[in-house]
Amino acid sequence: MKLRQTSRQKDSSSDWLEQGKEAAQAASDVYPRREMEQARLRVGDEGDYAKRLRWLLQLAQWPRPALMELAGRRSSPLSYDLHWLFGSYRPEDVVAAADALDRGIRSLLAADRWEIDIPAGTRCVLTIETSRPKDRRQVAGRLNSYFRAPDLSTTLLLLARDVLKVEWRRIQKCPAEGCPRLFIKNKRAQFCPDHRSQAERARRWRGKQTKKDLSDLRHRQYVRRLAKKRGVKEKSAAKMVSRRPRIGQEVKS
Ligand SMILES: [Zn+2]
Repeated sequence: MKLRQTSRQKDSSSDWLEQGKEAAQAASDVYPRREMEQARLRVGDEGDYAKRLRWLLQLAQWPRPALMELAGRRSSPLSYDLHWLFGSYRPEDVVAAADALDRGIRSLLAADRWEIDIPAGTRCVLTIETSRPKDRRQVAGRLNSYFRAPDLSTTLLLLARDVLKVEWRRIQKCPAEGCPRLFIKNKRAQFCPDHRSQAERARRWRGKQTKKDLSDLRHRQYVRRLAKKRGVKEKSAAKMVSRRPRIGQEVKS
């Protein structure tokens, strides 16, 4: 029984896992150890969710022609990262996986839901990582657990699932108008890198204005919105609203 299963696995040319293992072995022979160690630092270990989230968001949003080119170029940092995670891969599968990841995250953020299909043959792999494998019982090892699917997309999505379970709240869509970028928010960064400096300029400008300037500005914006809503001119909209005097501020009329 056991024997039959083993031979079936070897015969199946579509068994991506087996191919991947062999290729990973080949890759570790071909790829310099230093480069693979750096890939590991970029991608993060299992459980280093913050780092992995950063890497996943970058992959999901990489401009596709560049992604295809870099995934296919053997010396690119991205190709090391992908080898570190998946063993062998085809660049076009990486692009398809990035598309699926991007769709999934956006669906989760916009519709609060994302369903991942799990194809037959997907396995959960558990490994114990110790520095001295022979003394396994003496050395407290680290238990790794990850999914291996017959296709790269599913493997990537299941990896992303582990990360999102912990870190999903940190993903933010850029609030700049018309900007589709997703990024990791923190206290300082409320916008994507492209719009960050613009937002900072606006904040600096607001910092220079007096309270009255800002109050007047907000009032003008309100009148403009009201005029648009009612379909009237701004002058007549202004007559519809009366401003309450603010503390320490006299109303001129
Ligand atoms: Zn943006």
